[in-house]
Amino acid sequence: MSELLQYFQSQQSTMVEMLTALVNHESGTKDKDKVDKLTDFLQAQFTELGASSVTRIAQSEVGDMLFARWNETAPGKPIMFLIHIDTVWGLGTLAERPVRIDADGRLFGPGAIDMKGGITIVLESIRGLRTLNQFPNRPIWVLMTTDEEVGSLYSTPYIKEYSAQAGLVLVMEPATIDEALKTWRKGIATYKMEIEGLPSHAGNAPEKGINAIIEFAQQALRAREMNDLKNGTSVSVTMVEGGSATNVIPAHVTAYIDTRVLTVRAADDIEAAMTDATPFVPGAKVKISRINGHKPMERNALMQRTYAQCKAIGERYGLTIREDGSGGASDGNTVATLGVPVLDGLGPQGDGLHALHEHVVIASLPRRCTLIAGMLKDWVMEGA
Ligand SMILES: [Zn+2]
Repeated sequence: MSELLQYFQSQQSTMVEMLTALVNHESGTKDKDKVDKLTDFLQAQFTELGASSVTRIAQSEVGDMLFARWNETAPGKPIMFLIHIDTVWGLGTLAERPVRIDADGRLFGPGAIDMKGGITIVLESIRGLRTLNQFPNRPIWVLMTTDEEVGSLYSTPYIKEYSAQAGLVLVMEPATIDEALKTWRKGIATYKMEIEGLPSHAGNAPEKGINAIIEFAQQALRAREMNDLKNGTSVSVTMVEGGSATNVIPAHVTAYIDTRVLTVRAADDIEAAMTDATPFVPGAKVKISRINGHKPMERNALMQRTYAQCKAIGERYGLTIREDGSGGASDGNTVATLGVPVLDGLGPQGDGLHALHEHVVIASLPRRCTLIAGMLKDWVMEGA
């Protein structure tokens, strides 16, 4: 076992205390007052951990964000941690499900795995390196956001601005249940389909109507044809609403289509096919538009090199490093789109994101702290 891993294992109870403290700060995205209190707590933590500057990014709709830097004037591109402190759990969830640790060493609590465990790892790996006098003389940044669970509307400009300057971005979202990193995340695009027909009495003049539901049915089947599950593309009609009365030929349908892809190219292909909708029913009008989207975090050559270095560093310190992926997007997708080296799923092992059985496997905290500390010490920037 490496000395670093041994050290962090000796600190496990400190990690559990920190994780408990973070979970006990309830921070549902909408509860700005509560999120701000957690921002206060982390601002103090970053300062205590020797950050050379901690900038508070005030927000009116969501909690205040933080941008903390260590060794600002040191040479080289920064390694930047990307963390979010908001959770999907509203005020009062903690009272229903207080922090508990079971006999298998799993810590349960709202927000534990998503992503207070990841925040714990950032704090404790920095603390450990400082205690051991091994904190590297390189720029290290933390961007702490407060709106990830509702789509990162307010934080995305900061994520883009700071990530673009970094040489490596570490997204502290949870690892998988097998403690694997995420080296790919699917791109997501949601499309809205609006169909317009013509109403007519279903008894007196059905032939004079233009049936929007019959048009929709054919458009839905056309969308289904776009599935290519073997290559990671899924196209699912997920919501539909239409018609006005049982005796009227329906004039309107609104539907939504969820699409997921592995590559930017597939995203472009879907977009082109989706928006090129020719009506099947004479006289019907079909409009399909994308209402939101994330480009995929591709497992491309850059990702493979970045992961290979991470794995090698992990093994140097006695760890087994695995990779996997996710059908859901994170802020990692935004970073990957910039062409900046990024790794995601660096948080602890666990399960139950956004679910009642949400938990962190405590024994994985020292392992992940070791990996992060090793990367901060040893990471070689590409092209440096
Ligand atoms: Zn998260």
